[in-house]
Amino acid sequence: MMLCRSMAIVLVAASVAFSEQVSPRYTLSMPEPWTHLFHVEVIFDSLPASETSLELIMPVWRTGRYVLFDFAGGVQEFSAVDAKGSPIAWEKTDKSTWKMATAGASTVRVNYRVYADEFDMRTKGLNDRYGFVDGTAVFMYVEQYRRSTLTLEVKPYGSWHVTTGLDALGNDANRFTAPDYDHLVDCPMFIGNQHDHVFTAGGKPHVLSVLGEGPYNPQDLIGDLSAIVEGAKEFWGSLPYERYVFMLHLWSGGGGGTEHINSTIIQMGTFSLSSSRGREGFQSVVAHEFFHTWNVKQIRPRGISPYDYRRENYAREYWIAEGTTSYYTPVILRKAGLRAPDRTLGRLARVIKQDRDRPGHRVQSLSESSFDAWIKFWREHPQSYNSETSYYEKGSMVSLLLDLTIRHHSKNRSSLDDVMRALLKGFPRDGQGYTVEDFRKLCEEYSGVSLQTFFKDYVDGTVSLPWETVLAYAGLEVTEEKSATTPWLGVMTRDRGGALIVTAVIAGSPAYDGWGALRRRVSGIQRASWSFAMTYCVNSPSASARLRFRTTRSRS
Ligand SMILES: [Zn+2]
Repeated sequence: MMLCRSMAIVLVAASVAFSEQVSPRYTLSMPEPWTHLFHVEVIFDSLPASETSLELIMPVWRTGRYVLFDFAGGVQEFSAVDAKGSPIAWEKTDKSTWKMATAGASTVRVNYRVYADEFDMRTKGLNDRYGFVDGTAVFMYVEQYRRSTLTLEVKPYGSWHVTTGLDALGNDANRFTAPDYDHLVDCPMFIGNQHDHVFTAGGKPHVLSVLGEGPYNPQDLIGDLSAIVEGAKEFWGSLPYERYVFMLHLWSGGGGGTEHINSTIIQMGTFSLSSSRGREGFQSVVAHEFFHTWNVKQIRPRGISPYDYRRENYAREYWIAEGTTSYYTPVILRKAGLRAPDRTLGRLARVIKQDRDRPGHRVQSLSESSFDAWIKFWREHPQSYNSETSYYEKGSMVSLLLDLTIRHHSKNRSSLDDVMRALLKGFPRDGQGYTVEDFRKLCEEYSGVSLQTFFKDYVDGTVSLPWETVLAYAGLEVTEEKSATTPWLGVMTRDRGGALIVTAVIAGSPAYDGWGALRRRVSGIQRASWSFAMTYCVNSPSASARLRFRTTRSRS
C-alpha cells in the first residue's frame, strides 16, 4: 500500500514537472503599424504526445474594467502548424476559443493578427506613431499552461522601443520573461518613441514613461509621483514590487487610468498638464491608480481570485475595490502634501448633494451595483442615473461613513486604515480572495460593535445615508440650504458641436414630471424658446451645480 502511494506521488510529480516544461514563447511584431495590425506568434514546445488537441483562448475582458469586451472579435488570419510546418486543423468552439487537432505534435506554432485601434479603452492600439498593448486584448493562452513561465519577444517598428513592467530577459531590451500568463497580461506596454524618465521613490526604482506629445515638465511630474509613492508607502507599510512604471499617454482622445500589477496606464488630454487644474487631475488619477496597487491588485475580491478570462467575474465587493480606493485618493494626496486640508469640507458638501440628488441611490444597492457592473455600470443609458448606483461614488461615500463609524466606536483607536492593512495581511494575492463578510468582520473587529445593520442598510439596502449622524462623530454639522428662487429643470445635457443635447431626464424633476406635457406643446418656434429656457438653467450658477451629477467613467 505504501509502495503504491509512493509510486503515485512520483508519477504525479513527474507529470507536473513535465507540464511545466511547456513554456510558451510569444512574439509580437508590427511591420505595418499604419494598418493597426499586431502580428502575434505563440509557440508551444515539448507538448506531451498524449495531448491530441489544444484550446487557445482569447480573454473576453481585461482587468480593471468589469465589462465584456470580447477581444476575439479583433482576431484575423488564425493559423497553426507543427514543427515541420504542416498545417494543424482547427475550429472555433465558441466565440473566443480555437481548438486545434494537434494529434500529439510536440511543437505547435500559432499565428494570428489583431486589429488594434482602441486606445480609449486602454486595451490595444497601434498606428504610424506608436502602439499600446494590454495583453488580455492581444495574447491568447492555453488554460493548462497558464501557470507556466513564458517569454515574449517584441519586434518594435523602426526605431521604436518597449516600456513595460515586465522583466527583461538578459540584456536584450526587446525580450521579456513572465512567471505566468496572468503576469504577462498585467504588464501593459508602450511601443514607440516614448520618453522614459527613471527615478527612485520609496527606495525603489520607478519609471515615468510619456507617450505622445504635449507640454509638461518631467521634474514636476516626477515630484508628484514621488510624493504619492511615499504617501502610499506610509499608509501601507511597504511597496509590493521591485520596479514600477507610470505610463502616461498624452493624446486628444480623453482621460482616465487603469491599474496593473506593477504599472499603471494613465491617459490625459494633449494640453491637460499645462494648467493647474489639469495637473491636479493628473495627481488624482495617479493617487487612485496607485492605491489600487494594493487594493485590488494584492487584495482581491473572491470573485476575481483567480481571474477567469472566459466570462464575467461576479463580485459584490467591487464597491470596496473601487469606491474605497476613491475614498482614499484624497487621503493619499493629503499625505503626499499635494492637497490642503481645507478643501475637504467643500468637496464633502458636494458629495452629500450628489448622494441625495441621485434617484438611483434609492433604487439599486451597492452590492447590486457591484454584482451587475458587467451589464449596467459600463453600459450607461439615459435611465442609468435614475435607476443605478455608482459603486465608485457611493462606494466612496460608504467608505467614509464606515471610517468615521469605526473611529467613533473605537474612540479613535482604530480606523478603516487598519481594516485595509488587515485585509492585505489576511488575504494574500495567491489566496482565495476576500468577501464582503470578511470585510465586515474586520470592520466589526476594529470598531468593537456589530455592523450588521450598517451593511444591511447601506451596502445591501438603499436606506438614505446617515450623513448628519455620522459626520457629527467628527464634529461636523450638516445643514441643507434651499433656495425657493433657484430655477431647475432637471435635465442632464452635453454640448455637441454647439448644440445642447439632453442626455438624461432626472426622475422626480420638473422636466421628468412634465416631460409628456412639454413634448406635446413644444414644436416649431416653441421648441426654440424652450431650448433657450433650458440653456438659462444650465448657465445659472445654482443650477449648474446641480448639473455636476454626471459620473466620470474614465477611471477604472
Ligand atoms: Zn479604480
